[in-house]
Amino acid sequence: MGKDVVLLEATECGAGATGRSSGFITPDSELGLGQLVIRFGASDATLLWRAAQHACERIRSEINQLQIECDFVPADSLLAANTTGKIAAIRKEHEAHERLGFRSDWYDREHITEILGGEGFTAGVRTFGTFAINAFAYAQGLKRAFIAAGGRCFEGSPVTEILSNAVRTNDAVAQSQTIVLSLDRYAPVLGIETKDTYHAQAFLTVTEPLTDDMWQHIFPEAPLLVCDSDLIYQYFRRTGEGRLLVGGGLLSETYAAKENPNPRAFRKIERYARQRFPGLKDARFTHAWQGFIGMSKDLLPIAGRSPTEPGHYVAMCGAGLPWSVLAGECVAAQVIGDSTPIDHFFVPKRTFNRVEAFQPILGKPLTWALSYYFAKQWP
Ligand SMILES: Cc1cc2nc3c(=O)[nH]c(=O)nc-3n(C[C@H](O)[C@H](O)[C@H](O)COP(=O)(O)OP(=O)(O)OC[C@H]3O[C@@H](n4cnc5c(N)ncnc54)[C@H](O)[C@@H]3O)c2cc1C
Repeated sequence: MGKDVVLLEATECGAGATGRSSGFITPDSELGLGQLVIRFGASDATLLWRAAQHACERIRSEINQLQIECDFVPADSLLAANTTGKIAAIRKEHEAHERLGFRSDWYDREHITEILGGEGFTAGVRTFGTFAINAFAYAQGLKRAFIAAGGRCFEGSPVTEILSNAVRTNDAVAQSQTIVLSLDRYAPVLGIETKDTYHAQAFLTVTEPLTDDMWQHIFPEAPLLVCDSDLIYQYFRRTGEGRLLVGGGLLSETYAAKENPNPRAFRKIERYARQRFPGLKDARFTHAWQGFIGMSKDLLPIAGRSPTEPGHYVAMCGAGLPWSVLAGECVAAQVIGDSTPIDHFFVPKRTFNRVEAFQPILGKPLTWALSYYFAKQWP
């Protein structure tokens, strides 16, 4: 578009939430289709879902076109009920897909074992065409493509101050009429969207590479991206190296103000994996890490022009890789004087929910915990 673009990155591209993520590329990174229908009605939910599917496809086509090596693993998604009590809730997600014409397959207790081994799964909803990646490698691949296209990228250049028409680092000042702030959960550190952004902490661990027999037991048919039905949910998948990657969290740590590698959280997800798959009894968990996911109070991105600084745009708090891509697309369109059909859902300074009025009394952690609960209420 003839724009001269400079990218300033504090450490390395992908070193924030992106590179720490578990790399599930699915439209429902936080919000299911049924949840969108309840909040926005069938028509807008369909619009948002199609947009999220498009973002997944954009990631896939960039990987293919730019030949980014990022441990791409094609795998359908499975939302699995953990208990009998959760079956009705996930059934509604399946029904929302069917009603709006999106493909999904239902597996009851008798049939779920055909696609998912392990103990205690009572039903599942399978959706199609999803995949997983190593998102750090993906971000680094995008960086190389950006540079090849003439962009200037400065890693190791934390922005220390944001002015109307410039940003300052320790070594330099970059001047521009247009400044896009894609800071996710780091935004409040620079005084950006302080009231409207916070974070949730998630924990991940991976096993050593497992044997083919073990994989046959876990996924008898084909690898899946599995997410369970708990409010602080667990999720797992196979990596390209044949490791089991398992994620989850502890309610007490999810809204912690500071990153905290609490060993109890890692023990909890290891225990979960071993209980579900007793064959993992002697398997070693070799790596573990945690990270903060930037979030708004309604779990949709905050993206668009700043109402107070006309040359400033924000694109953050996607709470999911495809939704972060949508935030970026929305802002990129606006910067060149264009728009996307979903811009109005992401507007900065929008009203998020009824809880936010009490934020000064409740404080951020409790406000976000309640907001998360309301945003995610099962249909
Ligand atoms: C443990 C974990 C698991 C997850 N799993 C998944 C998943 O499986 N699927 C999914 O879709 N999503 C997942 N997510 C969420 C997803 O990773 C994020 O929503 C998404 O990556 C956010 O992208 P972003 O570019 O907005 O933020 P980030 O990737 O955090 O990028 C922000 C960047 O800003 C840089 N920065 C910060 N301060 C400054 C400064 N002062 N100057 C310059 N640069 C600065 C940071 O270094 C960082 O690189 C997960 C997140 C975590 C933490």
